[in-house]
Amino acid sequence: MARMAPANSPYIGRFAPSPSGPLHFGSLVAALGSCLQARANAGQWHLRMEDLDSARCTPGMADAILHALERFGFEWDGAVLYQSRRLPAYRAALDQLQATGRVYGCACSRREIADSSVHGIEGAVYPGTCRHGVLPGRAVRAQRIRTDTTPICFEDALQGRVCQQLQTDLGDFVVLRADGIFAYQLAVVVDDAQLGVTEIVRGADLLASTPRQIYLQRLLGLPTPGYMHLPIVLNAQGQKLSKQTSAPALNPDAPLAQLRRAMGFLGHPVPGEVDTVDAFWTWAIGAWNRQQLPPAGQMASC
Ligand code: GLU
Repeated sequence: MARMAPANSPYIGRFAPSPSGPLHFGSLVAALGSCLQARANAGQWHLRMEDLDSARCTPGMADAILHALERFGFEWDGAVLYQSRRLPAYRAALDQLQATGRVYGCACSRREIADSSVHGIEGAVYPGTCRHGVLPGRAVRAQRIRTDTTPICFEDALQGRVCQQLQTDLGDFVVLRADGIFAYQLAVVVDDAQLGVTEIVRGADLLASTPRQIYLQRLLGLPTPGYMHLPIVLNAQGQKLSKQTSAPALNPDAPLAQLRRAMGFLGHPVPGEVDTVDAFWTWAIGAWNRQQLPPAGQMASC
């Protein structure tokens, strides 16, 4: 496969869809941006299925996503990594965090947290109710990690410098959910390290998650990759395209038109003579220039 990277390539990127719904235009932008950034750096590009929350995963959706990506001409390196098959690795990471003494059981319900909290970056800031133990008679529901007030900052390649103070911006956050599922923040950190990812390119809807991920990387002794958060695609109502906002699924039968649109969104108008999916990829890998990406925060409706 001509587009694959040499096995010793220093750049490793990834795309990590959740099979809770079909790919939509926003997913295509993230897939394209991460893939082209990897290929333009002669890097590897891996695929990870974020299928930990089986109740939210639609049967057959993971295969449908892979099929759609193939129809769009994506080629990934190595085998697809399924999070549902990686539970021992997450358990080991949780054990390691527990050994630091920073993990504690929490008995609070969502309702209780919402009622007793100040508003932060992502809604209610966890007020630390169970930091010193759960009240007698209360059962532990989730496991949280203790945060502190040390600012966590990183330089995003597109969004610039981002800083958070986890304790005041979000509070102690969940690493093992009340339903026994490992939290996204933990799984993503373990998996990105396992794949050796050197730069994470994804939608800016995940920008606010990054300091939590860096915090976990530090506690687990894992390297922090580079980050580039792409502008979010909005619908006509100004909402982020997602399953919740009923974003239409990509049409795998008309890949070229959607690839052209996604590249346009990413600041790379596709020349008219690019008229097949293969020609698109050859052109796009050569044309990709990070400097052309829309400036931080710019949104486009579709
Ligand atoms: N699975 C996440 C999503 O579909 C992406 C996670 C990530 O890129 O870190 O939004």
